[in-house]
Amino acid sequence: MDRRQQLTGQDLAHLWHPFTQMSLWPGEPPLIIERAEGNWLIDLEGKRYLDGVSSLWVTVHGHNHPAIKAAIAAQLETLDHSTLLGLSHPLAIRLAAELAAITPAGLNKVFYSESGSTAVEIALKMAFQYWQQSGQPGRKTFVTLEGAYHGDTLGAVSVGGIDLFHQVYGPLLFPVHKLPQPHCRLCRLGLTHPACDLACAQALEPLLAAHGQEICALIVEPRVQGAAGIIVQPEGYLRRLWETARAHGVLFIADEVATGFGRTGSLFACGLEGIEPDLMALGKGLTGGVLPLAATLASDRVYQAFLGRFEEFKTFFHGHTYTGNPIACAAACASLELMRQNDLVAGLAPRVEQLRQGLAAIAHMPHVIETRQQGLMAGIELTADKATGQAYEPGLRMGHRVIMACRPLGVIIRPLGDTVVLMPPLASSEDEIAHLLTAVEKAIAQVTEGRQP
Ligand SMILES: *Cc1c(COP(=O)(O)O)cnc(C)c1O
Repeated sequence: MDRRQQLTGQDLAHLWHPFTQMSLWPGEPPLIIERAEGNWLIDLEGKRYLDGVSSLWVTVHGHNHPAIKAAIAAQLETLDHSTLLGLSHPLAIRLAAELAAITPAGLNKVFYSESGSTAVEIALKMAFQYWQQSGQPGRKTFVTLEGAYHGDTLGAVSVGGIDLFHQVYGPLLFPVHKLPQPHCRLCRLGLTHPACDLACAQALEPLLAAHGQEICALIVEPRVQGAAGIIVQPEGYLRRLWETARAHGVLFIADEVATGFGRTGSLFACGLEGIEPDLMALGKGLTGGVLPLAATLASDRVYQAFLGRFEEFKTFFHGHTYTGNPIACAAACASLELMRQNDLVAGLAPRVEQLRQGLAAIAHMPHVIETRQQGLMAGIELTADKATGQAYEPGLRMGHRVIMACRPLGVIIRPLGDTVVLMPPLASSEDEIAHLLTAVEKAIAQVTEGRQP
């Protein structure tokens, strides 16, 4: 038995893959990635693929970056792990200070965990407990957006709005108020932007007027709802929500797990509209895509409500075993240092423009209903009939077929339903973006029009 057969056999026998219908898994022999170089993934046979979704939205500087490797190696010589429960260590301290310095004003306190879901979970618990300890214990519910995705743990699922993922858990979830999704093409309110004057954001005002005293926080993916299919909010939407929440004293939680660290073309999406949230969740790109680390940032106002005498029990009773792992913090510090040195975010503009032009061409294809983009995040939505906007039958798995057709062309991407997602590493070159766009266009033509590459 060769190595590929052996690994495939063991994969099929023992691995349960995330977000994967395992009954279909054996039908497509798994693509096994053995190595990476820069922005490329390399399989067992040595075939190279551009990492078109940044290994699930995390890779910033390319894989195996020497500066991050060196920081990890150095940290392994001094301290592998030590808890933050009752102790501290230099890397957690340094990273916390850096995060406080680069995030929007007011976010000065950093609480670590390991995934975006836990970072969100922590923000929800902090917001809830804040009001319990601030004399307004009636504020117990959250406002969220239709189509939201905040992670897979139960609190994060409660504030989520993707029925396909979330509906089955209904009985386990806490109730929330939902705002209409800011999705202009399929406007839930039947209006047209900009004549609508952001009616979907204005919907927050009557909700808070009626229920404001019961609501502890609004949670939003700022500017882009990623998992919903890269739904980009119209300009001004975010700021309108933030101002309305503030006017009613409701806390604002920015889930920047996907949008943080330059992905939208700004260091943080909140910066695009100058908003200052009370709580912010970070994850994905925090370590440059190398190690699992997440952070929840809180304002001084939120933090103050947790202070008191020991016996008042205002403590935030929460903490994960590996919280603030020193090696992960070292990777994050090195990644932030690289971003600064390379002026990465400022340098993104030409790649963002290149992607915009490529998407504009793809948007003309007969089975593409819409392309959406913010920075280096893009979605290409397929349609069975461009005139009516009719979706394909889900069983056809057109999005999946397109991403599979990209593989022989040397590109790995993932679909969200029939939206093809492009999320190349921030450090992608002009040639790499061109390779990605060419392959995706060919794959869409091949799958939707039967044109051979
Ligand atoms: C990916 C994501 C999460 C969840 O992060 P995990 O690390 O997968 O738990 C939460 N919020 C947003 C906006 C995300 O994109």
